[in-house]
Amino acid sequence: MKRILSGMRPTGPLHLGHLTGALENWARLQDTYACFFVVVDWHALTTHYAETGEITANILEVATDWLAAGLDPARSTLFIQSLVPQHAELHLLLSMIMPLGWLERVPSYKEQQQQLETRDLTTYGFLGYPLLQSADIMAYKAEAVPVGEDQAPHIELAREVVRRFNHFYGPVFPEPQTLLTPTPRIPGTDGRKMSKSYGNAILLKDPPERVREALKTMVTDPARKRRTDPGDPEKCPVFDLHKAFSPEETRTWAAQGCRTAGIGCLECKSRLADHLLAHLETIHARRPEFEKHPDTVWDILKTGSDAARDTAEATLEDVRQAMKIRYPVR
Ligand code: SF4
Repeated sequence: MKRILSGMRPTGPLHLGHLTGALENWARLQDTYACFFVVVDWHALTTHYAETGEITANILEVATDWLAAGLDPARSTLFIQSLVPQHAELHLLLSMIMPLGWLERVPSYKEQQQQLETRDLTTYGFLGYPLLQSADIMAYKAEAVPVGEDQAPHIELAREVVRRFNHFYGPVFPEPQTLLTPTPRIPGTDGRKMSKSYGNAILLKDPPERVREALKTMVTDPARKRRTDPGDPEKCPVFDLHKAFSPEETRTWAAQGCRTAGIGCLECKSRLADHLLAHLETIHARRPEFEKHPDTVWDILKTGSDAARDTAEATLEDVRQAMKIRYPVR
């Protein structure tokens, strides 16, 4: 079975954007690939090095959501990056051959520095985080990486790093392919991209009443000030959620009703809530069991990290051998 690897930062409880943009796809991929799913706590430090107090709690939240969303420890390796120190060793070794210009031209380097301008991101760790991502992938000799479009340049970088390593030291690594995940637009309740930091997210762990309440307050097409005003569903964030969670028939009903002022926004949102909650039903059914037993979640992460370490160590043995830094003494 081909290996794939993907990861998430421990940013706290996950929301609908994570579900449609990654988790549902990951759950499907478990049938066809040997999957490694990693909570990348060191990556969180590259931007949030000054606020580490919540990392432990956030790792637990992310892993609980993963399990609730159907990631299955019997079929996939679920683990924590920092419990596999081979990622750090490989990152260091790759840093020796990494041209600085390659890192400086990664699009997210400048973009994130601008977006997160309140943080000082002129750090060694932040510049190097795409290389740490390459190390994450290469430690498992992963052949493919499921990502959204925004992450595709990072996989391209990993391919270049693989080629450079193999050129210097021989063919140790496969070139990872990008498994592009279609990511439907998931706006938050204020119409901007859904994000915990904007306070506009619908979380996977939100109970049904909270989901309905959040949808009721969600912004709509501003042209529909009154019930009798026709609207344009393509200008309405609620309709984006219909596209992601409602069946064709409901989408047609909402679009026609909106354009003709035949339905009110509350009615439209209520129908969306029904479909969204049906979509989340399995997650809502599974999550409380894991919430009640955090030790079980930590045990799963420990078992996964032990297995990941074995695989990564086998790769590092190949790397040390290829680089001729494997000595008679250890
Ligand atoms: S009817 Fe539905 S799609 Fe149209 S503006 Fe209201 S919430 Fe949006």
